[in-house]
Amino acid sequence: MKLKKALVCGAGGFIGSHLVKRLKKEGYWVRGVDLKYPEYDETAADDFIIGDLRCYSVCQRSIDQAFDEVYQLAADMGGAGFVFTGENDADIMHNSGLINMNILDVAWKRKSRKVFYSSSACMYPEHNQMEPDNPMTAEDSAYPANPDSEYGWEKLFSERLYLAYQRNKGMNIRIARFHNIFGPLGTWDGGKEKAPAAFCRKVALANDGDVIEMWGDGKQTRSFLYIDECLEGIRRLMMQDDFIGPVNIGSEEMVSINELARMAMEIAGKKLSIHHIPGPLGVRGRNSDNRLIKEKLNWEPNYPLHKGMEFTYRWIEEQVKHM
Ligand code: NAD
Repeated sequence: MKLKKALVCGAGGFIGSHLVKRLKKEGYWVRGVDLKYPEYDETAADDFIIGDLRCYSVCQRSIDQAFDEVYQLAADMGGAGFVFTGENDADIMHNSGLINMNILDVAWKRKSRKVFYSSSACMYPEHNQMEPDNPMTAEDSAYPANPDSEYGWEKLFSERLYLAYQRNKGMNIRIARFHNIFGPLGTWDGGKEKAPAAFCRKVALANDGDVIEMWGDGKQTRSFLYIDECLEGIRRLMMQDDFIGPVNIGSEEMVSINELARMAMEIAGKKLSIHHIPGPLGVRGRNSDNRLIKEKLNWEPNYPLHKGMEFTYRWIEEQVKHM
């Protein structure tokens, strides 16, 4: 049987580097492309191009043949401290917009028809996420659009770009809206880390009786999806025949940020207190709505948050020791 070939854009990043491993396990030949190699592990890719995907010629070098599958995960992104301050808006829109326009166009020209695009729950309208207890993220609630960040607007634009190539140019697109993916080998310091990794780091560095800081009152809610389940969702979406998406890939286990921090403390066995400080927050409440994924893929993520947090805490605890 002919070996299937996949290209993973953003293969030096958190989800991309895990996805490369998963595809290798499934027997694919994999090329990765990114500005950098994975930070915390060797890449499992057969071939890895270091290059800037804002540059059309790098995209041409990366897609130099008809790949069976292209996974587009490269983006200028980070946690709330990067996305919600407003200071990086121009870069986020320009960089990620260019990457998506380039990759999709070259994929089409090189007859790499099947392309996965990683959108984000950040594209949902702010007005549906003002209440911590009952946020609305059904896929068809996306319009009229009103994301609370330029990051979300770029994702929405790019979703539409991919859908337009599907309609006009015969591409075979799949789109997922990820909801807060976390796990080992994810960014845990430096300002681009997300809440689960940030609290694991703060707790790992603290001693009993210490105080850790948290942006906001901690009553804002989110759900967090463990990396393995995200990969399962991506692969299931790619393997089925006739459903393009966009579809949520997220957990329905919603917690407050206070609960998330307390979970990290409990896993570590440390007694700490929380000092609430002003900071960039994002929407008041968000949870994944998994009705559509259940209906279309006959599957939904169900990995317990606590179990994922245990793995993540243990990994970050090790990283902190080597600081
Ligand atoms: P990440 O930052 O770890 O990975 C993104 C990778 O893209 C990085 O390695 C980065 O170097 C690379 N990249 C950025 N600009 C590039 C360029 N010009 N040329 C080449 N490579 C470039 O992020 P991640 O958490 O792995 O997220 C992957 C995708 O999933 C992103 O598109 C992100 O927007 C989306 N997403 C992630 C989450 C999450 O919770 N992690 C949630 C929603 C959506």
